[in-house]
Amino acid sequence: MDLQSLLTDIARETAPVLGEGKVADYIPALASVDPRRFGLALATMDGQVLGTGDWQTPFSIQSISKVFTLALVLARDGEALWDRVGREPSGNPFNSLVQLEYEKGLPRNPFINAGALVVTDRLISLRGNASTELVSFLNAEAGAGAAHVDEAVAASEAEKGHRNAALAHFLASHNRLVNPVDTVLQAYFDQCSIAMTCEGLAQAALFLANHGLRADGTRLFSRSEAKRVNSVMLTCGTYDAAGDFAYRVGLPGKSGVGGGLLAILPERGVLCAWGPALDSHGNSVAGVEALDRFTTKTGWSVF
Ligand code: GLN
Repeated sequence: MDLQSLLTDIARETAPVLGEGKVADYIPALASVDPRRFGLALATMDGQVLGTGDWQTPFSIQSISKVFTLALVLARDGEALWDRVGREPSGNPFNSLVQLEYEKGLPRNPFINAGALVVTDRLISLRGNASTELVSFLNAEAGAGAAHVDEAVAASEAEKGHRNAALAHFLASHNRLVNPVDTVLQAYFDQCSIAMTCEGLAQAALFLANHGLRADGTRLFSRSEAKRVNSVMLTCGTYDAAGDFAYRVGLPGKSGVGGGLLAILPERGVLCAWGPALDSHGNSVAGVEALDRFTTKTGWSVF
């Protein structure tokens, strides 16, 4: 199969939906991005990295960071994390407060904001500076300079982060955080503010397609842990649209409000799409469209 032509065809076929949806506007750095940007990258297990459109333009990875913090905690702490966060789809928006109250501060899964705050809290306990740890992992996998915290975005996240602060304080009120609320929030805002390209993200996530093996051939975690992260991505990675995403794309996927969308092709590679205009669930309209087209054309899904 000519993968480069395939990506180019998909970009052309996705063009009609570019601009459909709405860019995240809670901070200026996201609100000012052109909704018609589009990139698509594929990193394969045999070392190819292909792409089309804006695949080498950095964007704010936002909630895609949650995949990597989860992986780093599981790698160092094993299954103990699951006493503090569930692994069921929430059926609610990613920043919802209500479910957390009903469920006494036990977040449904690591990919909604409440769950990610708990995962970040654990990473701070394990490693000290969670975002430094995360950035160095991403750079180790995708190449030096592939990832950095955009400090201006991080400052805006903190300034406008009232809902996340509410979630963190609510978690703390149920004794679900070990570190100070402000420390956890700062680390969470930093991880959301990491800037990367489709190319870099696709490379950084290859360990999930490769049963836990890192770029340098060492093992991050077991084959079972890689399967588990992929499973939680499939069921929870696109929030209250995870069912629709599984139906359309048939791959473990993780979105972010910067418009990025990562999808794992086990034993084949990783896809990353970027289209800043989002649907009402916070998933990239063009990203889902492109990945739908990719798995439909290739038949490369997990089903
Ligand atoms: N920074 C965003 C938030 O915390 C990330 C959410 C997302 O990408 N879905 O709400």
